[in-house]
Amino acid sequence: ATPTAVVAATGRGAELGILIKGPEVLERAHDLRRVLLDKTGTVTRGEMQLVSLTAFNGFDEERALALAGALEQPSEHPIARAIADAARERVGKLPPLSDFRALPGRGVEGRSGDHRLIVARPSLLSERGVVVPEPVRRVVAEEAERGRTAVVLAVDGRAVAVFAVSDEPRPEAGAAVAELREQGLEPVLLTGDEERVARAVARRVGIEAVIAGVLPEQKAAVVEQLKAQGVRVAMVGDGINDAAALASADIGIALGSGTDVAIEASDITILGHDLRLVPRAIALARAALRTIR
Ligand code: ADP
Ligand code: MG
Repeated sequence: ATPTAVVAATGRGAELGILIKGPEVLERAHDLRRVLLDKTGTVTRGEMQLVSLTAFNGFDEERALALAGALEQPSEHPIARAIADAARERVGKLPPLSDFRALPGRGVEGRSGDHRLIVARPSLLSERGVVVPEPVRRVVAEEAERGRTAVVLAVDGRAVAVFAVSDEPRPEAGAAVAELREQGLEPVLLTGDEERVARAVARRVGIEAVIAGVLPEQKAAVVEQLKAQGVRVAMVGDGINDAAALASADIGIALGSGTDVAIEASDITILGHDLRLVPRAIALARAALRTIR
């Protein structure tokens, strides 16, 4: 792009709340094919609500909520916020917690008194040697079909309850996805959440392609794989978990309401959180390039 076109695109972007880091970012918008969108907090609001609690084998529901709430209290994950808030509201004072450990993209573990606690996706429980019985799996599967994320509480190595949380797509997500398509781009939903939940959310916003079950440390590798196929890739995200993928992508786009780490790793920052500014940013960059072709 000519210097004049760069200045024009950068200036117009700034007016819209689209901060473009440098002229070379515009060049990379050329031949862009795929736009990966993080699910939680990017396509969805990232404000989860606890919508169901199922206890098994006579385990008391309120006790399950109290233990899970205590364990999730130190975590900043939206799932943790939903469970801890519900617990404080319904139970009041929560049991003591020690030895807390967050397992990014998987869950949390710790102790309460003599009890060993885990709240996590079922696959993590299996890795920890906790058997997840069929009735528990069935509840997780039913929730997933409805687009709800379900996590399991294990106490002393026994799966005792399932918590389902729901998170709404952002109101403008469908329109943003449609605009990406109009520009000939393929939107792809990228998430650590499981496939069925991801598909249900994707369906609601008009995304067909889903890459699910991706651990935080694998997100950048997914971007690299797509790039190795010779397609230019943009990544849109907001969280610490997304930083490496944002940096790997041909164009990393961070939502300004996100974490500093994500913003630092990106090429374009969208101030505020209007997803429609993503197709707008790409259109701006492409228009700047056209002026020299
Ligand atoms: P996303 O890509 O949607 O932002 P994450 O990578 O943060 O998702 O998390 C992936 C999965 O790991 C969640 O769907 C959940 O099953 C599990 N998980 C992560 N953090 C927690 C937590 N604090 N409590 C329970 N489960 C968690
Ligand atoms: Mg996120």
